Amino acid sequence: MRYFFVDSLEPEDAIFSITGPDARHIRTVLRLKPGDKIGLFDGKGFDCEAQIVDFSPGKVTASLIRRFPSTAESPIQITIAQGFLKERKMDGLVRQLSELGITKWMPFIAERSVSIPDKKQLASRAKRWEKIAKEAVKQCRRGRIMKIGDTASFSQVLNLAGDCDLKIAFWENESRPVQPINPQSPVQTVFALIGPEGGFTRREIEVAKDYGFIAASLGPRILRAETAAVAASVLLQYLFGDMNQKYLDKKTGL
Ligand code: SAM
Repeated sequence: MRYFFVDSLEPEDAIFSITGPDARHIRTVLRLKPGDKIGLFDGKGFDCEAQIVDFSPGKVTASLIRRFPSTAESPIQITIAQGFLKERKMDGLVRQLSELGITKWMPFIAERSVSIPDKKQLASRAKRWEKIAKEAVKQCRRGRIMKIGDTASFSQVLNLAGDCDLKIAFWENESRPVQPINPQSPVQTVFALIGPEGGFTRREIEVAKDYGFIAASLGPRILRAETAAVAASVLLQYLFGDMNQKYLDKKTGL
């Protein structure tokens, strides 16, 4: 069944309209007919199965069959805080981390961050990142759009991590890997820090440890910040989220 993005799937909605390129795609490329079934999702946590009831110029109308929580959302909440990077590197990061099911992504100003945009530029970048995150949801069909946090200072980020179950500062000078936590205390919320191109200062790592963060390694090689953010996301989804067999078995009920 093919899935299409709609702006909202409220519980009381029973009839949906699909317009624009998706409507054209349904009609002229997929050549679907009234009575055919399609999937709809709104990026707010729910999917639904619907049946096409009508075609009108530029619009496809479908009626609800059933609405259910999205099956493409991770069981854990992962926030990735990224030391501000140069130029457009952050754009690609927003797309990739959206695809990896990260709950929230937020830039922060690290000691070694260079070329920080001014308030106006930050506002327009944030708009662009939100657009990228929404487009990524349509492509990867996850249940929720990744939240984009405001650009923060390092101390604001450390405070925002609050009482997350697991707080990790990924640091290339650390030798210890992320320890799979003992099953007695399952991890529900993770907050991870990735440094800027110049890396974290030793002082930043010490302060993060004072806020309950553990430093962890992503292996013996120095990764570019963008690579580290993706590697960290995959590792956390594999260890605690929905990229491990345990979760997949549960999900498919095998
Ligand atoms: N200071 C580094 C150097 O010597 O070239 C550059 C930092 S690296 C480009 C940017 C960020 O990616 C680091 O601050 C860290 O958060 C993360 N990172 C890169 N490699 C890592 C590794 N092997 N283990 C843990 N984190 C790593």
